[in-house]
Amino acid sequence: MTETAAPVASLAAEAAALDGADPLAAKRAEFDLDPEVAYFDGNSLGAPPKNVAERVTEVIRQQWGRRLIRSWEETWWAAPQRIGERIAPLVGAAAGQVVVADSTSVDVFKLLVAAVRANPGRDEILVDAGTFPTDGYLADQVARLTGHTVRRVPVARMPGEANERTAAVLANHVDYVSGQLHDMPSVTEAVHAAGALAVWDLCHSVGAIPVRLDACAADFAVGCTYKFLNGGPGSPAFVYVAQRHQAEFDQPLAGWAGHADPFGMEPGYRANPGIERARTGTPDILSMLALDAALDVWDGLDLAVLRAKGLALGDFFFRCLDELIPDADVVTPRNHARGHQVSVRDPGGRKTMDALYARGVLGDFRPPDVLRFGLAPLYTTFGEVLRAVTVLREVR
Ligand SMILES: *Cc1c(COP(=O)(O)O)cnc(C)c1O
Repeated sequence: MTETAAPVASLAAEAAALDGADPLAAKRAEFDLDPEVAYFDGNSLGAPPKNVAERVTEVIRQQWGRRLIRSWEETWWAAPQRIGERIAPLVGAAAGQVVVADSTSVDVFKLLVAAVRANPGRDEILVDAGTFPTDGYLADQVARLTGHTVRRVPVARMPGEANERTAAVLANHVDYVSGQLHDMPSVTEAVHAAGALAVWDLCHSVGAIPVRLDACAADFAVGCTYKFLNGGPGSPAFVYVAQRHQAEFDQPLAGWAGHADPFGMEPGYRANPGIERARTGTPDILSMLALDAALDVWDGLDLAVLRAKGLALGDFFFRCLDELIPDADVVTPRNHARGHQVSVRDPGGRKTMDALYARGVLGDFRPPDVLRFGLAPLYTTFGEVLRAVTVLREVR
């Protein structure tokens, strides 16, 4: 017996018990997963639900092939709002505030410009210092165009840093490297107390944890659909604009799809009175309807159960690390102020992740030295968590 055989055997028994008691176990069967692979990158590209391929084929054959141009009026034009309403309960939004459109990067631009226009007389934007780079790049461009300055501040410090000069803050709900969960209620409240508006990026929280935009009085939000929502590579993002801001919502990419009468072909722009004014141009229907099909897995799902499983997967990941790799340099908070990933700093970096890939364990690597393991509660198993840590122990 090797030195770790005993702990591995007892962890394997524990994993089997946890998988046996998992209330979401049946959800895994709704996904088309490679049985050889342990997938830990659902936070970058969610796995495909099985119904998506069939739906997309039907959209191509029937809606496009047979209905042709008639499909725009019959179903396609309204798809961004209809699918937005399906996402709304996942982010705690009442009806009429979410629309699917464009990419996260593009939507960050729209929302930030709209936010600073909604809060004139202030000259600064605060941006999450640790953000996924595209948000910061876009904020810099917004600042160039609007004459604001950008100050990079960790989300946890935004409450103390927002002041009378701050027009808007752009904050991530869950940090993409560490997995840290930021406190949306208290940050939003403090930002509001300083007279600023809060734009939340939900890329790493939507579909992972219950989000409560309305309850937090968030102003604007954007989120990705190809991560924990499994919409497929490059599926369009969604935008949330709180009802109270919609009449004044003045976004810079105001194209015909956001017009009050898009088919009236008026020479001048008149914004749609509702959330549709966040749209820009013709929606990417194939990606959008793939997302629509992928959202079926959420029907009737209790987000509290999802959250509990995600935390349990993380807790078990930490237990496996403690038993098998006690010197692991864990970046992710061990308390429950985290999303659904476990990040470990490793000097081998990309080479370690390459070795994990060669053994069928797919996580990802974030420079300079972070190995990231996404935990998708809909399909990740406790047995796979043990496999990931066992293989990591062998290859590092
Ligand atoms: C994944 C992610 C994005 C992705 O933006 P795209 O426009 O879809 O490429 C943006 N911001 C954050 C915080 C992300 O995690």
